[in-house]
Amino acid sequence: MDLAAPPSQLPDSLRLRHHLHVGGEWTSPADVDLIDVENPSTGELAGQVPAGTPADVDRAVAAARAAFPGWSAATPAERSAHLDRLHTALSARADDVARTIAVELGAPLKLATRVQVGLPLTVLRDHVALAARVPVEESIGNSLVVREPIGVVGAITPWNYPLHQVLAKLAPALAAGCTVVLKPSELTPLTAYLLFDAVTEAGLPPGVLNLVPGTGPVVGEALAGHPDVDLVSFTGSTATGARIMRLAADRIARVALELGGKSANVILPDADLATAVKVGVGNALLNSGQTCTAWTRMLVHRDRYDEALHLIATAVAGYRLGDPFDPATRLGPLVSAAQAERVRGHIDRALTDGARLVAGGPDAPVPVGGHFVAPTVFADVHPDSALAQEEVFGPVLAVIPFADTDEAVAIANNSKYGLAGAVWSADTDAALAVARRLRTGAVDINGAPFNPLAPFGGYKQSGLGRELGVHGLAEFCEVKAIQR
Ligand code: NAD
Repeated sequence: MDLAAPPSQLPDSLRLRHHLHVGGEWTSPADVDLIDVENPSTGELAGQVPAGTPADVDRAVAAARAAFPGWSAATPAERSAHLDRLHTALSARADDVARTIAVELGAPLKLATRVQVGLPLTVLRDHVALAARVPVEESIGNSLVVREPIGVVGAITPWNYPLHQVLAKLAPALAAGCTVVLKPSELTPLTAYLLFDAVTEAGLPPGVLNLVPGTGPVVGEALAGHPDVDLVSFTGSTATGARIMRLAADRIARVALELGGKSANVILPDADLATAVKVGVGNALLNSGQTCTAWTRMLVHRDRYDEALHLIATAVAGYRLGDPFDPATRLGPLVSAAQAERVRGHIDRALTDGARLVAGGPDAPVPVGGHFVAPTVFADVHPDSALAQEEVFGPVLAVIPFADTDEAVAIANNSKYGLAGAVWSADTDAALAVARRLRTGAVDINGAPFNPLAPFGGYKQSGLGRELGVHGLAEFCEVKAIQR
């Protein structure tokens, strides 16, 4: 780390990355075009990476294919030892990664350190142990059922958690015995380069992990449609997920899709309201609302509705927007001008649709220079309105009243998405009963902590398949029945 430079300015070694990582080496791309990476807090240039091409994808997929026989035949203990070395090499770079995420995403440094870097390091650590336990085999009657690595994985990831989204795919893929070509988001690619610095230091066999940065329409499409990619593991928007499915369909390639969400936070009348609101607001605003699992619809019983709105407004007032490197900052900017514009559009539409503004809104002051949007809360949001139905991916909370539990469940399930959710009640049995009725891949009761070993994924248009833990590992395996 260059101690003389201000923290928001990355040294050239971290920001000017003009190579691909293919076949175990930093190599030149086929084309000289570069992608500018913006610092969304200031609008300044944060760095540059190559604009990869289909020819680069071909080369990387060929390297991954060539590495597959060796890596898939490695013992679980060998693969686990490689992951352990990667964990050590990445841990040594934790400060640089957090700083890079604060610059290219705008996440407050404290959040970047604890969540953006802390969580994926835990996930990687977990996979050191999981890798040692594969292959998982079972006997069913006269059959030996074995799991085998699926092959070459094309991993396409979004910008909102630039390290976690990548490691949630790479760690289980490696543990299962797959080889990978990664295309990180073009908005936050610098973080992936730090990971590949660690890959180099850890001495992973050449071609096991490959990096081709670039845009979705060029590198993403080439990877998803590549005839030699066996599984496309994608995290991003539902619209792009549908496109990936279409690209994979012609060759019946496997897809794993982690997509959007519009999760409901159901606060039953006997809940500890102060805690439910505090945690609920924090969840909705985490990472400036750019979190797929964010509880963006808060459902409150009518008996406690006014009290809840008062608590929400007080909680939101404590979220200070600003420079990610200022320790007082709790919310950074949105990732791009386009994202900020989209979020402002949702706010304007909610006002037109008659929702009641409780905090923030279009006229609330924000820092100048970056893509900031004030944390905004609407009450009396109609469950069918655009704000209740569409993913905003910004710091906007919709509050909706309900009269009884059946209505709360109906409102919560009134969504094309089904990723996450929450229930609050003093009666944990009652909360569990509601949790069972929610059509989502995860539900947290009374603010229970995130479990990185639990399956993660969505019902309905929130996706296909699961990431993390043993369920995530299974996504990277084929299943074979051997009759004896
Ligand atoms: P996005 O779909 O625009 O992009 C995601 C990735 O796909 C990027 O790397 C992008 O370059 C690539 N891409 C874009 N078009 C492509 C195409 N035609 N073919 C192949 N690849 C293409 O999503 P985003 O804006 O980066 O991320 C925000 C979205 O991601 C939100 O909808 C959010 O809910 C979702 N998300 C979901 C999860 C989850 O686990 N369920 C996690 C984080 C984000």
